[in-house]
Amino acid sequence: MPTPLIDRYRDRLSLEAGDPVVTLNEGSTPLIEASRLSERLGVRAYLKLEGANPTGSFKDRGMTVAVSRAKGRGAEAVICASTGNTAASAAAYAARAGLRGAVIVPEGKIAIGKLAQALMHGARVVALQGNFDDALRIVRDLAGKHPIELVNSVNPYRIEGQKTAAFEVVEELGEAPGALAIPVGNAGNVTAYWRGFQEGGAAPVLYGFQAEGAAPLVHGAPVAEPETVASAIRIGNPARWEEAMAAFTASRGRVAAVSDEQILDAYRWLAANEGVFCEPASAASVAGLLAHGMPVLEDAAPPESVVCVLTGHGLKDPDTALSKAPAVVNCENDLSAVERAVFE
Ligand SMILES: *Cc1c(COP(=O)(O)O)cnc(C)c1O
Repeated sequence: MPTPLIDRYRDRLSLEAGDPVVTLNEGSTPLIEASRLSERLGVRAYLKLEGANPTGSFKDRGMTVAVSRAKGRGAEAVICASTGNTAASAAAYAARAGLRGAVIVPEGKIAIGKLAQALMHGARVVALQGNFDDALRIVRDLAGKHPIELVNSVNPYRIEGQKTAAFEVVEELGEAPGALAIPVGNAGNVTAYWRGFQEGGAAPVLYGFQAEGAAPLVHGAPVAEPETVASAIRIGNPARWEEAMAAFTASRGRVAAVSDEQILDAYRWLAANEGVFCEPASAASVAGLLAHGMPVLEDAAPPESVVCVLTGHGLKDPDTALSKAPAVVNCENDLSAVERAVFE
């Protein structure tokens, strides 16, 4: 059974001594070698399966720390804006802590599994007639006016918790990987990985990927109406913009865009060829490497290994999966009919 992330790393997190540990035994996620992907890329490729966290995404790493601190300081409720996974995670950890939870999501724009999670965990789910960026602006104002803890990645404890994924990667490999490929939405996670690597004395090349229709960091300007099939990274004005860009520069990496078609191709390919079902946004990390190749460095040999962060589980978004998967084969209740159906 995995140890709660806070118990593993408490001395490297900035929690107060008296803070309780609100946990679902998150973290300690599998890092697996991906032999077919390695072949296609010509380097050793690994997948960090963050969908194996308790609510199915890496958001749990940040949420255990943010909700523990909120509880420690006496908060009675937590709130967040979310494209889905933050809502699912906040709702679960709020339930665990005995706090009320409220989540603001873009109306009609969140994957059905994430919505089911937030509702089942008893959060108040508000569907905003606006996008994620509008929702984040509103919850920031609300948290300033009411005694309610904001648990978006603007909350410093979220980043503290999420940096532990970088610790795990270095521990597991016994050294830093040459490069890290990661999808970028609000840019909290890439900021957290960089902090974690730096604290561990590591500096892999960070290679971030945004969806073409939601690529403010690539274009250098906010996107008013972000659009992509990868709903978890459908964000037009990332809150951690400057920190993420500083991390790309310091690591000698870059941020680039991938099309929805490239994302969906990588999404299906990973499921069919590596046995890993992640959500579309997660597949942007692999799609980016396949589309752009490994990073090229001016004054050093190219990296020999890469870790792709697969941020969330494929079951979060069954609608996208079923709309892209081959059809089911219908069959009558008869041996030879089944024989034909299976072997044809
Ligand atoms: C939140 C999320 C992202 C984006 O992470 P940021 O910290 O917002 O950049 C990517 N993929 C999934 C599945 C997510 O839930």
